[in-house]
Amino acid sequence: MTVFEHAGKLLIVDCGVLFPEETQPGIDVILPDFTAIRDRLDDVVALVLTHGHEDHIGGVPYLLKERADIPVIGSELTLAFLTAKLKEHRIKPRTVHVEAGDTHRAGPFGLEFVAVNHSIPDGLAVAIRTAAGMVLHTGDFKMDQFPLDDRITDLRHFARLGEEGVDLFLTDSTNAEVPGFTMSERDLTPAIENVFATAPRRVIVSSFASHVHRIQQVLDAAHAGGRKVAFVGRSMVRNMKIARDLGYLTIPRGLLVDFKKLESVPDDKVTLICTGSQGEPMAALARMANDDHEIKLADGDTVLLASSLIPGNENAIYSIINKLIDLGARVVHKGNAKVHVSGHASAGELVYCYNIVRPRNVMPVHGESKHLHANADLARRTGVPDDHIVVARDGVAVDLLDGKITVAGQVPASLVYVEGTSVGRATEPILDERRTLRDGGVITVLAIVDPTTNTLTEPLEFLTRGFVHDPDTLTGVTDAVNKALEAPKTRAISDLTALETVISEAVARYLRRRYRRPPAVIAVVVDD
Ligand SMILES: [Zn+2]
Repeated sequence: MTVFEHAGKLLIVDCGVLFPEETQPGIDVILPDFTAIRDRLDDVVALVLTHGHEDHIGGVPYLLKERADIPVIGSELTLAFLTAKLKEHRIKPRTVHVEAGDTHRAGPFGLEFVAVNHSIPDGLAVAIRTAAGMVLHTGDFKMDQFPLDDRITDLRHFARLGEEGVDLFLTDSTNAEVPGFTMSERDLTPAIENVFATAPRRVIVSSFASHVHRIQQVLDAAHAGGRKVAFVGRSMVRNMKIARDLGYLTIPRGLLVDFKKLESVPDDKVTLICTGSQGEPMAALARMANDDHEIKLADGDTVLLASSLIPGNENAIYSIINKLIDLGARVVHKGNAKVHVSGHASAGELVYCYNIVRPRNVMPVHGESKHLHANADLARRTGVPDDHIVVARDGVAVDLLDGKITVAGQVPASLVYVEGTSVGRATEPILDERRTLRDGGVITVLAIVDPTTNTLTEPLEFLTRGFVHDPDTLTGVTDAVNKALEAPKTRAISDLTALETVISEAVARYLRRRYRRPPAVIAVVVDD
């Protein structure tokens, strides 16, 4: 989510979510922090969406819950995916449909949209003109020269904007570390066709529910192999219906079958295309690997992983692949066949863009620190002066003034956690507690004390969950607690909560020192 401010008005570009990592147990999605604009929502003139991926539109329901009538500007497919998502939140957005080449005025911002190619159809870059200068924001993009829909990133348009003078270029950094050029989607066709030609029984394809072109390739290969296809998973069924209705997906007649009616089709004529609950593929595969999915894997099935192995999660993914193999499946993934290419421009493409646009200032966006810095380095190598490049972390405010960018300040930008219906309630200390519970289990200590002396009047009682122990493990705890209670400072405590803290700390200290194990300890003190 990026916010532009000019003449007292705000323009928002994208509003996505992050998905939690293993270190964030219990979290469904992570939202951008709206704190900095919450008091100024009436100043927002529009929200521009560059494309329909979750990390660019997933936060929109939560933003519109704060102000429902913000005009949302985007391409046809982006708005269709968004509208379907908002329907589940019972929100009807005010949408403005634009296409590549269109211009649109939103308050003091003059907008112009440019076609870009990405791993979802209908992506747009946006040029933003104000009296302070022109900004070009690429959104996510790559430069596939042979995309399935023949809609390439419009470099001639980029060049025209460059001639006019791009004062600030915000560009996708995701693949800035990858040398060369991202391979064309079309180059995957032979490997995908080969999977279908050689699969002895069912083919189960897992993909992002938004990767319309990849799914088109799978449909075509399945059709050529005389197979039937069923979509599995709510977001996959929903998105593919939208993509088909709007003409982004072509499904030959008779190819599609309802999942429940597949029983009458022989296994070697079956294709299942599935995704996870948030549209991401790995969740569905993890459930299949654990036999907790409506698709039950069997000997001789082929699993085609037509998506990225999400970086940072490699170990989790390889363990899923191993389980799928143990269940008898053959697993085809980007590690053993050319069945996936990235949706983002590699270093070679980014350098072309810098040389075509010739921006005065550069701010790399989309990616972690290493990607942003790699992208900054590419800009530097094409001749952008060092003091005209800003690598900004979340929340950094950047001024564009007299053709030069400078870091101007910082606004609050923490991670806002969503779990179930609660938004922003889970905090870092809460996640700390969850990690402790997960790693060490929990011990509850019940202490009955004499309120006049703060000494134990009954033996301690223990209740444990996830903490492994035998009868002797906890015997030393009583001594440790007695010692803590004997301290003169402790004897004077009259507050029960303070006494509980003394006891829980004594128990935790003892277990850490004696067994090198740190469970969560909860002490409950009852006056005798
Ligand atoms: Zn994207």
